[in-house]
Amino acid sequence: MYDVIIVGAGTAGLSSAIYVLRLGKRVLLLERNYYGGQIINATEIENYPAIRRISGYDFAKALYEQVIALGADIEYERVVSIENGRYEKTVITEKNSYKCRSVIIASGLKKRKLGIENEERFTGKGISYCAVCDGAFYKGKTVAVAGGGNTALMDALLLSDYCSRVYIIHRRKEFRGEKLLAEKLSRRENISYMLNCTITALNGSERLESVSVTSNDSRIQNNIELSGLFVAVGQIPDNESFSGLLELDENGYIISDNCSTSAEGIFSAGDCRRKDIRQLATAVSDGAVAGIKACEYINRKE
Ligand code: NAP
Repeated sequence: MYDVIIVGAGTAGLSSAIYVLRLGKRVLLLERNYYGGQIINATEIENYPAIRRISGYDFAKALYEQVIALGADIEYERVVSIENGRYEKTVITEKNSYKCRSVIIASGLKKRKLGIENEERFTGKGISYCAVCDGAFYKGKTVAVAGGGNTALMDALLLSDYCSRVYIIHRRKEFRGEKLLAEKLSRRENISYMLNCTITALNGSERLESVSVTSNDSRIQNNIELSGLFVAVGQIPDNESFSGLLELDENGYIISDNCSTSAEGIFSAGDCRRKDIRQLATAVSDGAVAGIKACEYINRKE
Protein backbone atom coordinates (compact mmCIF):
# COMPACT_ATOMS: atom_id res chain seq x y z
CA MET A 1 0.00 0.00 0.00
CA TYR A 2 1.44 3.35 -1.08
CA ASP A 3 0.40 6.61 0.48
CA VAL A 4 0.29 8.46 -2.83
CA ILE A 5 0.37 7.23 -6.40
CA ILE A 6 1.28 9.87 -8.94
CA VAL A 7 0.13 9.28 -12.50
CA GLY A 8 2.76 10.83 -14.78
CA ALA A 9 6.44 11.59 -14.19
CA GLY A 10 6.63 14.93 -15.97
CA THR A 11 7.48 18.19 -14.24
CA ALA A 12 4.18 18.40 -12.30
CA GLY A 13 4.23 14.75 -11.19
CA LEU A 14 7.90 14.81 -10.15
CA SER A 15 7.46 18.12 -8.33
CA SER A 16 4.49 16.79 -6.39
CA ALA A 17 6.60 13.73 -5.44
CA ILE A 18 9.19 16.01 -3.80
CA TYR A 19 6.56 17.51 -1.50
CA VAL A 20 4.87 14.20 -0.67
CA LEU A 21 8.17 12.46 0.08
CA ARG A 22 9.42 15.29 2.26
CA LEU A 23 6.20 15.02 4.26
CA GLY A 24 7.19 11.44 5.05
CA LYS A 25 4.83 9.52 2.74
CA ARG A 26 5.50 6.58 0.40
CA VAL A 27 5.22 7.42 -3.29
CA LEU A 28 4.83 5.39 -6.47
CA LEU A 29 5.12 7.18 -9.81
CA LEU A 30 3.48 5.51 -12.82
CA GLU A 31 4.73 6.70 -16.19
CA ARG A 32 3.72 5.38 -19.60
CA ASN A 33 6.73 6.69 -21.57
CA TYR A 34 9.89 8.23 -20.11
CA TYR A 35 10.31 10.43 -17.09
CA GLY A 36 10.56 14.16 -17.75
CA GLY A 37 7.39 14.82 -19.77
CA GLN A 38 7.32 17.56 -22.39
CA ILE A 39 10.19 19.58 -20.96
CA ILE A 40 12.76 16.88 -21.65
CA ASN A 41 12.52 17.80 -25.36
CA ALA A 42 12.97 21.54 -24.86
CA THR A 43 16.32 22.63 -26.27
CA GLU A 44 16.71 25.50 -23.83
CA ILE A 45 14.81 26.82 -20.82
CA GLU A 46 15.41 30.50 -20.24
CA ASN A 47 12.32 31.49 -18.24
CA TYR A 48 12.61 29.46 -15.06
CA PRO A 49 13.36 31.65 -12.03
CA ALA A 50 16.94 31.54 -10.76
CA ILE A 51 18.14 29.35 -13.62
CA ARG A 52 19.43 31.55 -16.40
CA ARG A 53 19.68 28.79 -18.99
CA ILE A 54 19.40 25.01 -18.89
CA SER A 55 18.52 22.33 -21.41
CA GLY A 56 15.19 20.55 -20.94
CA TYR A 57 17.06 17.27 -20.66
CA ASP A 58 19.32 18.50 -17.85
CA PHE A 59 16.35 20.01 -16.02
CA ALA A 60 14.26 16.82 -16.25
CA LYS A 61 17.18 14.58 -15.28
CA ALA A 62 18.05 16.68 -12.22
CA LEU A 63 14.41 16.70 -11.12
CA TYR A 64 14.08 12.94 -11.61
CA GLU A 65 17.30 12.22 -9.71
CA GLN A 66 16.15 14.43 -6.84
CA VAL A 67 12.89 12.47 -6.56
CA ILE A 68 14.56 9.06 -6.73
CA ALA A 69 17.13 10.13 -4.10
CA LEU A 70 14.22 11.08 -1.83
CA GLY A 71 12.96 7.49 -2.08
CA ALA A 72 10.21 7.37 -4.73
CA ASP A 73 9.44 4.16 -6.60
CA ILE A 74 8.74 4.43 -10.31
CA GLU A 75 7.17 1.92 -12.72
CA TYR A 76 6.85 2.40 -16.46
CA GLU A 77 3.26 1.30 -16.94
CA ARG A 78 0.25 2.94 -18.58
CA VAL A 79 -2.65 3.63 -16.21
CA VAL A 80 -5.95 2.43 -17.64
CA SER A 81 -8.30 3.24 -14.77
CA ILE A 82 -8.62 4.30 -11.15
CA GLU A 83 -11.14 2.97 -8.63
CA ASN A 84 -11.99 5.39 -5.86
CA GLY A 85 -12.92 3.11 -2.93
CA ARG A 86 -14.12 4.43 0.38
CA TYR A 87 -11.00 3.38 2.29
CA GLU A 88 -8.45 3.01 -0.46
CA LYS A 89 -7.86 3.81 -4.13
CA THR A 90 -6.84 1.22 -6.73
CA VAL A 91 -4.78 2.32 -9.70
CA ILE A 92 -4.97 -0.21 -12.53
CA THR A 93 -2.30 -0.31 -15.23
CA GLU A 94 -1.97 -2.53 -18.30
CA LYS A 95 0.16 -4.91 -16.20
CA ASN A 96 -0.70 -4.52 -12.50
CA SER A 97 -2.93 -2.91 -9.95
CA TYR A 98 -1.70 -0.85 -7.01
CA LYS A 99 -3.39 0.30 -3.80
CA CYS A 100 -2.92 3.71 -2.23
CA ARG A 101 -4.62 6.30 -0.05
CA SER A 102 -4.51 9.24 -2.42
CA VAL A 103 -3.83 9.79 -6.12
CA ILE A 104 -2.35 12.75 -7.98
CA ILE A 105 -3.10 12.78 -11.70
CA ALA A 106 -0.36 14.62 -13.59
CA SER A 107 -0.87 12.93 -16.93
CA GLY A 108 0.14 15.89 -19.10
CA LEU A 109 -0.94 16.26 -22.69
CA LYS A 110 -0.49 14.45 -25.97
CA LYS A 111 0.51 16.02 -29.30
CA ARG A 112 -2.27 17.44 -31.45
CA LYS A 113 -2.32 16.15 -35.04
CA LEU A 114 -2.94 18.29 -38.09
CA GLY A 115 -5.87 16.03 -38.88
CA ILE A 116 -5.33 15.80 -42.63
CA GLU A 117 -5.10 12.87 -45.00
CA ASN A 118 -1.84 10.85 -45.05
CA GLU A 119 -0.65 12.23 -41.70
CA GLU A 120 -0.58 8.81 -40.07
CA ARG A 121 0.83 7.14 -43.20
CA PHE A 122 3.87 9.45 -43.25
CA THR A 123 4.45 9.60 -39.48
CA GLY A 124 8.02 8.38 -39.04
CA LYS A 125 8.45 8.67 -42.81
CA GLY A 126 9.00 12.39 -43.04
CA ILE A 127 6.50 13.58 -40.43
CA SER A 128 7.70 14.05 -36.87
CA TYR A 129 6.22 15.56 -33.72
CA CYS A 130 9.59 16.07 -32.01
CA ALA A 131 12.32 18.21 -33.57
CA VAL A 132 14.72 17.54 -30.70
CA CYS A 133 14.37 13.77 -31.17
CA ASP A 134 14.38 13.59 -34.99
CA GLY A 135 15.87 16.86 -36.27
CA ALA A 136 19.39 15.49 -36.74
CA PHE A 137 18.11 13.03 -39.39
CA TYR A 138 17.42 16.02 -41.64
CA LYS A 139 20.89 17.57 -41.68
CA GLY A 140 21.43 19.60 -44.88
CA LYS A 141 17.83 19.04 -46.02
CA THR A 142 14.74 21.20 -46.50
CA VAL A 143 12.12 20.88 -43.78
CA ALA A 144 9.02 22.70 -42.56
CA VAL A 145 7.56 23.37 -39.14
CA ALA A 146 3.78 23.66 -38.75
CA GLY A 147 2.50 25.90 -35.94
CA GLY A 148 3.00 29.33 -34.41
CA GLY A 149 3.44 28.72 -30.68
CA ASN A 150 6.63 28.54 -28.62
CA THR A 151 7.24 24.92 -29.55
CA ALA A 152 7.08 25.68 -33.29
CA LEU A 153 9.39 28.69 -32.91
CA MET A 154 11.92 26.74 -30.85
CA ASP A 155 11.75 23.82 -33.29
CA ALA A 156 12.39 26.16 -36.23
CA LEU A 157 15.39 27.70 -34.45
CA LEU A 158 16.83 24.30 -33.66
CA LEU A 159 16.31 22.96 -37.18
CA SER A 160 17.81 26.05 -38.79
CA ASP A 161 21.12 25.10 -37.12
CA TYR A 162 21.54 22.10 -39.39
CA CYS A 163 18.91 22.07 -42.14
CA SER A 164 19.53 23.93 -45.39
CA ARG A 165 16.09 25.58 -45.33
CA VAL A 166 13.30 25.71 -42.80
CA TYR A 167 9.79 26.81 -43.74
CA ILE A 168 7.57 27.89 -40.91
CA ILE A 169 3.94 27.43 -41.87
CA HIS A 170 1.38 29.07 -39.61
CA ARG A 171 -2.34 29.59 -40.03
CA ARG A 172 -2.32 33.16 -38.68
CA LYS A 173 -0.40 36.33 -39.56
CA GLU A 174 1.05 36.62 -36.05
CA PHE A 175 2.89 34.07 -33.97
CA ARG A 176 1.39 33.02 -30.68
CA GLY A 177 4.87 32.31 -29.25
CA GLU A 178 7.15 34.72 -27.39
CA LYS A 179 8.38 37.86 -29.20
CA LEU A 180 11.98 37.16 -28.16
CA LEU A 181 11.88 33.82 -29.95
CA ALA A 182 10.29 35.36 -33.06
CA GLU A 183 13.05 37.97 -33.10
CA LYS A 184 15.74 35.29 -32.87
CA LEU A 185 14.07 33.53 -35.82
CA SER A 186 14.04 36.69 -37.93
CA ARG A 187 17.85 36.84 -37.70
CA ARG A 188 18.24 33.41 -39.34
CA GLU A 189 18.79 33.54 -43.07
CA ASN A 190 17.66 30.03 -43.89
CA ILE A 191 14.12 30.45 -42.52
CA SER A 192 11.18 31.18 -44.83
CA TYR A 193 7.79 32.24 -43.54
CA MET A 194 4.46 31.04 -44.86
CA LEU A 195 2.04 32.94 -42.63
CA ASN A 196 -1.73 33.01 -42.90
CA CYS A 197 -1.46 29.67 -44.68
CA THR A 198 -2.89 26.19 -44.20
CA ILE A 199 -1.31 22.86 -45.05
CA THR A 200 -3.91 21.28 -47.28
CA ALA A 201 -2.18 18.10 -48.51
CA LEU A 202 0.69 15.79 -47.60
CA ASN A 203 2.14 14.24 -50.75
CA GLY A 204 4.53 11.38 -51.47
CA SER A 205 4.73 7.69 -52.28
CA GLU A 206 6.89 5.81 -49.75
CA ARG A 207 7.80 8.94 -47.73
CA LEU A 208 6.59 12.51 -47.47
CA GLU A 209 7.97 14.39 -50.48
CA SER A 210 6.06 17.66 -50.49
CA VAL A 211 3.30 19.61 -48.79
CA SER A 212 0.59 21.68 -50.43
CA VAL A 213 0.13 25.01 -48.69
CA THR A 214 -2.88 27.23 -49.37
CA SER A 215 -3.02 30.94 -48.60
CA ASN A 216 -6.00 31.67 -46.36
CA ASP A 217 -6.73 34.97 -48.18
CA SER A 218 -5.95 34.39 -51.85
CA ARG A 219 -6.62 30.60 -51.82
CA ILE A 220 -3.49 30.28 -54.02
CA GLN A 221 -1.86 26.90 -53.50
CA ASN A 222 1.91 26.26 -53.45
CA ASN A 223 3.70 22.95 -53.43
CA ILE A 224 6.82 22.83 -51.23
CA GLU A 225 9.23 20.01 -51.82
CA LEU A 226 10.81 18.92 -48.57
CA SER A 227 12.23 15.97 -46.66
CA GLY A 228 10.59 16.54 -43.31
CA LEU A 229 7.59 18.18 -41.67
CA PHE A 230 7.68 18.89 -37.95
CA VAL A 231 4.19 19.27 -36.55
CA ALA A 232 4.05 21.60 -33.52
CA VAL A 233 0.39 22.60 -33.38
CA GLY A 234 -0.11 22.27 -29.66
CA GLN A 235 -1.28 19.54 -27.39
CA ILE A 236 -4.51 18.03 -26.13
CA PRO A 237 -5.38 16.22 -22.89
CA ASP A 238 -5.42 12.45 -22.66
CA ASN A 239 -7.85 11.99 -19.78
CA GLU A 240 -10.48 9.65 -21.30
CA SER A 241 -9.57 6.87 -18.83
CA PHE A 242 -10.60 9.13 -15.94
CA SER A 243 -13.89 10.33 -17.42
CA GLY A 244 -16.06 8.11 -15.21
CA LEU A 245 -14.10 9.01 -12.10
CA LEU A 246 -14.02 12.79 -12.06
CA GLU A 247 -15.32 15.84 -13.83
CA LEU A 248 -13.70 16.83 -17.14
CA ASP A 249 -14.47 20.00 -19.08
CA GLU A 250 -15.77 20.05 -22.64
CA ASN A 251 -12.19 19.84 -23.98
CA GLY A 252 -11.21 16.90 -21.78
CA TYR A 253 -9.21 18.81 -19.14
CA ILE A 254 -9.64 17.79 -15.49
CA ILE A 255 -11.74 20.33 -13.60
CA SER A 256 -10.11 21.09 -10.29
CA ASP A 257 -10.31 23.71 -7.62
CA ASN A 258 -6.71 24.57 -6.79
CA CYS A 259 -5.71 20.99 -7.73
CA SER A 260 -8.59 19.25 -5.84
CA THR A 261 -10.74 17.30 -8.30
CA SER A 262 -14.41 16.33 -7.98
CA ALA A 263 -13.33 12.88 -6.68
CA GLU A 264 -12.46 12.72 -3.00
CA GLY A 265 -8.76 12.15 -2.32
CA ILE A 266 -7.82 12.55 -5.99
CA PHE A 267 -5.80 15.59 -6.98
CA SER A 268 -4.58 16.90 -10.31
CA ALA A 269 -1.45 18.80 -11.27
CA GLY A 270 0.06 20.29 -14.40
CA ASP A 271 -1.11 20.60 -17.98
CA CYS A 272 -3.80 17.88 -17.74
CA ARG A 273 -6.03 20.10 -15.61
CA ARG A 274 -8.07 23.07 -16.74
CA LYS A 275 -6.05 26.21 -16.18
CA ASP A 276 -5.08 29.44 -17.90
CA ILE A 277 -1.30 29.30 -18.06
CA ARG A 278 0.68 26.18 -18.92
CA GLN A 279 4.33 26.83 -18.19
CA LEU A 280 7.17 25.03 -16.46
CA ALA A 281 6.79 27.31 -13.44
CA THR A 282 3.05 26.64 -13.15
CA ALA A 283 3.60 22.86 -13.46
CA VAL A 284 6.02 23.02 -10.52
CA SER A 285 3.57 25.19 -8.59
CA ASP A 286 0.73 22.70 -9.19
CA GLY A 287 3.02 19.90 -8.04
CA ALA A 288 3.61 21.64 -4.72
CA VAL A 289 -0.10 22.33 -4.18
CA ALA A 290 -1.31 18.84 -5.15
CA GLY A 291 1.46 17.14 -3.14
CA ILE A 292 0.71 19.04 0.05
CA LYS A 293 -3.07 18.63 -0.37
CA ALA A 294 -2.76 14.87 -0.89
CA CYS A 295 -0.78 14.59 2.36
CA GLU A 296 -3.29 16.77 4.23
CA TYR A 297 -6.08 14.49 2.94
CA ILE A 298 -4.29 11.37 4.18
CA ASN A 299 -3.58 12.95 7.57
CA ARG A 300 -7.23 13.98 7.97
CA LYS A 301 -8.34 10.40 7.25
CA GLU A 302 -6.00 8.90 9.88
P1 NAP B 1 0.40 26.38 -28.46
O1 NAP B 1 0.99 27.53 -27.74
O2 NAP B 1 -0.99 25.94 -28.13
O3 NAP B 1 0.50 26.71 -30.01
C1 NAP B 1 -0.04 25.84 -30.95
C2 NAP B 1 0.06 26.51 -32.30
O4 NAP B 1 -0.46 25.62 -33.28
C3 NAP B 1 -0.73 27.80 -32.38
O5 NAP B 1 0.02 28.74 -33.11
C4 NAP B 1 -1.99 27.37 -33.13
O6 NAP B 1 -2.51 28.38 -33.95
C5 NAP B 1 -1.50 26.26 -33.99
N1 NAP B 1 -2.53 25.25 -34.27
C6 NAP B 1 -3.37 24.67 -33.39
N2 NAP B 1 -4.15 23.75 -34.02
C7 NAP B 1 -3.78 23.78 -35.31
C8 NAP B 1 -4.21 23.07 -36.45
N3 NAP B 1 -5.16 22.14 -36.39
N4 NAP B 1 -3.61 23.36 -37.63
C9 NAP B 1 -2.64 24.27 -37.71
N5 NAP B 1 -2.18 24.99 -36.66
C10 NAP B 1 -2.75 24.73 -35.47
O7 NAP B 1 1.29 25.03 -28.30
P2 NAP B 1 2.86 24.85 -28.01
O8 NAP B 1 3.66 25.74 -28.86
O9 NAP B 1 3.10 23.39 -28.06
O10 NAP B 1 3.01 25.34 -26.51
C11 NAP B 1 2.21 24.73 -25.49
C12 NAP B 1 2.46 25.46 -24.17
O11 NAP B 1 3.81 25.23 -23.77
C13 NAP B 1 2.29 26.97 -24.30
O12 NAP B 1 1.74 27.48 -23.12
C14 NAP B 1 3.70 27.46 -24.48
O13 NAP B 1 3.89 28.79 -24.06
C15 NAP B 1 4.46 26.47 -23.62
N6 NAP B 1 5.86 26.37 -24.10
C16 NAP B 1 6.72 27.24 -23.55
C17 NAP B 1 8.03 27.25 -23.97
C18 NAP B 1 8.92 28.27 -23.34
O14 NAP B 1 8.57 28.80 -22.34
N7 NAP B 1 10.02 28.63 -23.88
C19 NAP B 1 8.47 26.35 -24.96
C20 NAP B 1 7.56 25.48 -25.51
C21 NAP B 1 6.23 25.51 -25.08
P3 NAP B 1 -3.23 29.70 -33.35
O15 NAP B 1 -2.08 30.59 -32.94
O16 NAP B 1 -4.02 30.21 -34.48
O17 NAP B 1 -4.06 29.23 -32.21
